[in-house]
This record gives sequence, structure tokens and C-alpha cells, in this order.
Amino acid sequence: MTDTEARTEATGANGSNPGLATTSQLRPGRTETDRLSGRVAVPAEGRESAEVRSPLNGELLGVVPIGTADDVTAAMERARSAQRVWATKPVKERAAVLLRYHDLVLEQQDELLDLIQAENGKARVWAFEEILDQAVTARYYARLAPRALKPKAKLTALPGLVRTWEHHLPKGVIGVISPWNYPLVLAVSDALAALVAGNAIVIKPDSQTPFTAIRAFEMLEESGLPKGLVQIVTGPGRSVGTAIIDQADYVMFTGSTDTGRKVASQAAERLIGMSAELGGKNPMVVTADVDLDTAVEGAVVAAFANTGQLCISIERIYVEDAIAGRFTDQLAQRVSALRLGAEQSYGAEVGALASQDQLDKVSAHVQDAVVKGARVLAGAKARPDIGPFHYEPTVLADVTPDMDLYADETFGPVVAVYPVQSVDEAVDKANDTQYGLNASVYSGDPKHGRAIAARLQAGTVNVNDGYSSAWATLDAPMGGMKASGLGRRHGHEGLLKYTESQTIAVRSPLAAKLQDPTGDPRGYAKRFTKILKLAKHLPR
Ligand code: NAD
Repeated sequence: MTDTEARTEATGANGSNPGLATTSQLRPGRTETDRLSGRVAVPAEGRESAEVRSPLNGELLGVVPIGTADDVTAAMERARSAQRVWATKPVKERAAVLLRYHDLVLEQQDELLDLIQAENGKARVWAFEEILDQAVTARYYARLAPRALKPKAKLTALPGLVRTWEHHLPKGVIGVISPWNYPLVLAVSDALAALVAGNAIVIKPDSQTPFTAIRAFEMLEESGLPKGLVQIVTGPGRSVGTAIIDQADYVMFTGSTDTGRKVASQAAERLIGMSAELGGKNPMVVTADVDLDTAVEGAVVAAFANTGQLCISIERIYVEDAIAGRFTDQLAQRVSALRLGAEQSYGAEVGALASQDQLDKVSAHVQDAVVKGARVLAGAKARPDIGPFHYEPTVLADVTPDMDLYADETFGPVVAVYPVQSVDEAVDKANDTQYGLNASVYSGDPKHGRAIAARLQAGTVNVNDGYSSAWATLDAPMGGMKASGLGRRHGHEGLLKYTESQTIAVRSPLAAKLQDPTGDPRGYAKRFTKILKLAKHLPR
């Protein structure tokens, strides 16, 4: 059981905290969350329920029933029967649903922004990143799928005499297990690719952030997705999550590296495919010729977007000595001026941490570093005056290998700056980690930046940007090297992983004659020796 789940079951999604709001101040209100709760594939009667509280002020947003393994089995059956019909629909018809969803998400963004903020606590500007991602992903896969899923003619051993096609068949039911940090993107974006490929979904959103996912999948139904094709089972990972992996045809997991290992071993036992997007300790390299203002602004977004609770956010910055002092001073000044807030409107630049667990982990990392000699250049304080889980964005210097946050993912608004003597030293240190998710290079010369990027062991590397350019290039694969993941989302791979490729070959009567090894085996051998010698001179 993860810490988050333990807390959810014991005390409600965000634990108890003195001074929590008791009256409803946030949108949406209880009527709406009760309605959304009624849409999950778990009966309310006969099931315990889990509270979902807002990290913005501790307010009770609603409750969801805690599902069981039996609920997963029933959800799987419904999903399988809906999938059989869905798979017969032309790809263009499936893609049209995604395009309508694209429009709906943009038109009704305020409703989704309210939900994301209420459940996760992030500032509205970072919630809007989720809207952007959702619309772009829906459009990308709607446009890609008809091309990518079309049967493709392949080069055969006897061109013209044997004709072969590669087909892509849906896997069946895809199990999606998602975390709390991007309640819309990480629950729905991968599902969009799986759905357009002809699959059904059984999803377990994180216990802290179920309502955004429920409303988004409802919007997909409003866009024409057949009812029953997506089944949402709320509940803990150790029971509902494992039951999904036990029965799905493929698993898309996003979460921590520790849980990813458990999911991978369970999937391996069943010999089913899986894709895992896991943790990171992402580095940024800053070269001496950089424009300082650009690099500092880039570092601020890279480290503190989404309150630093972003798998691809930057937690380590290696700066060439010549500018390290000026870069660090300017960064500390800029970070100290960031606006924290708890309002459901644009304004604040930094929102809340998502939970008491997150606040405890971030505080412990910073405290451990400070006790062992790290210097605080900005932040390093909880801000209960703003909200129960607010924490000031923090910049540290003099971080050493004996400190917990040197190598472990903090997953919060904390960045460490390290001066380095050369780019080579920066690259060596950046690569000295078990992780390999994302990296960033800031350089005055983009060509040099790209050359440095190619030396970094990370699935995505952004030059003169922290994370968004590579993520938003939907046509390119995104995922982790080393302990940061298995497989990729985005690009052709992000779609085709949800399919089984099937090769269909049709032989002509002449090919059958040529290929007959019986009767005249010597003639057969001679014929094919000649054919192979000739084939070598053909262009393909
Ligand atoms: P987590 O691993 O604790 O939980 C993720 C999901 O897995 C939750 O829904 C949880 O209920 C479920 N789960 C827990 N135990 C399970 C089990 N035994 N079997 C099946 N499911 C189980 O992660 P978290 O704390 O919610 O998320 C933060 C982590 O996720 C960070 O490490 C972050 O870097 C990572 N993350 C990675 C990406 C990426 O794209 N690489 C994106 C977002 C977050």
C-alpha cells in the first residue's frame, strides 16, 4: 500500500489538518461531485467510501466508493462486450469522437480547471497546461490513427507473387493506472490513443483525484464514445490496481518507480505488455555563453511549474563556473518573488502541494539537506497561512551526496544548483543517476546545446526549455531511460503499443509452384539460389 493510499483509507484523501475549511468554498459543489461519484463502475451500496479533500483548503469535495476485485471483474466484462462492437467501427468514426472531445474540452475548460485545481491544488495556470495537452493529444491521435492503423503492404520474398500486409488489431481491454499529479492528462491522454486504436479501458485513477477523470470520460461519452467502453473503478492500488493488471490485455501505468517495479513483475507473470512512465531526478545544464535572463526564467518554470510535482520537472541545475554566481543570485531573487496562492482563478504562480504526505516528504528532504550543510537561497518554509499544504519554492546550494535529495526524487518545489568547471563535468554529473526521464540544456548556441543534449541519458531533452517543447511534440516518443520507465507514450509508438500487429500473406498459384520443395528438391534449390543472387541486385 502506498502512503497516499494508507492516508486516504484512514482519514480521507488529504489527511486531517487543523484549521481545515468546513463550509463549501470551492467549485464544484457537493451536488456535482455526488453526481460524478455515481458514474463509477463500483456500486455505492455495500461498499465503503473514501473522502476526497482539497489540498487548497482541506474542504471535503466528495466521496467515492472503494471498489473491490469483484468490481474490476464486472467492469472488465462490460468493457469487453463494448469493445467487440467498437473495434468494428471504421477508424475515422472513432477518430471523430476525439475531435469532438477536443472542442468540448476547450469550450468547457473552466469546469475542468475547477475540478483539477480543487482535487490537486495546483495553480490555475498549470491546470491550463492539462487542457492544452488534452486538446493537442486528441487532435494528434485523431489525425494519426486513420493513417497509422491502415493495413500496409510489405515487401515480400517473392514480390508480385506473394502479397503481404501488416494489420494492427486492438489489444482488447487496456488497464490504465494513473497518479494524482496530472489528474486529467495522465488519466485520459494515454486512453485517447488506446480508444482510437479500437480498445476499451478499465481505469483506476488515483484515490485523491478521481473526479477530473470521471468528468473527462463523461465528456468523451458526450462526444460520441459508446457507453460502457470506459469503466472507472475507484479504490486502492493494491487491490483494484492489481486486479486490473490480473485481467487486462495491456497495462499503461504512470507513477513511482517503486510501484512500477511491482506492476512490471505482475505483468511479466501474465506475459502481457505494459508501458510504465515513472520517476525522475531531472538535470539542467547551463553553459557560460547563455543569455542569463532566459536561462533563469527557464529554470523557474522547469523547477516550479505544478509546484514541482511534475515527473519531468528539473531538480538539479549544473551551471558553468563563469556565470554560476550571477545565475544563482538571480534565480534565488526571482524564486523568492513567486506568488503562492490558493484561489480558483488565474493569479498565483505556485499552488499547493497535493497532500500531507507531499508536504512531509518535501519538508523532510529540505530539513535533511539543511542539517547536513546545504545553504538555503530561497524558500524552505511551509506556508500554513496560505493553505494546509503550501510550501515556498526553494533553491538550495552546497548539496552533497550524503543528503537525501541529492539522488532521490523530491517531487516538489525544490531545486539544487551546482557550479561546474566544464560542460563535460556537467554531463557526467547529470548522467550519474538511476533515472533517465527528462533533461534540459540552456546554451547561447542552440547547435552546441543540441550536441550536449545528445550526450545526456534521458528519454527527452529540451534545449533552451525545461520540459514543454519535447512533451508537446506529440509526434515524437516520450518516456524514460533506465529506472524512469518502460516503453513510450506519444508518436506512432504511443498508438501502436495498444495494438497487436498481424501479418497476412497471400500466395499466388505461380509462387506456390516455385516454392514447392517436393518432387524436384535439387531443382528447387537451384531455382532459389538463382533468385537470391538476382535479388541482391534489386534496389530494395
Ligand atoms: P504511485 O506509484 O504511488 O501511484 C500511482 C498509481 O498506482 C496510483 O493510482 C496508485 O493507487 C497505484 N498503485 C499503487 N500501488 C499499486 C500496486 N501495487 N499495483 C497497482 N497500482 C498501484 O505514484 P504517485 O505517488 O501517485 O505519483 C508520483 C510518482 O509518479 C512520481 O515518482 C513521479 O515522478 C511519477 N510520475 C511519472 C510520470 C511520467 O510520465 N514518467 C508522470 C507523472 C508522475
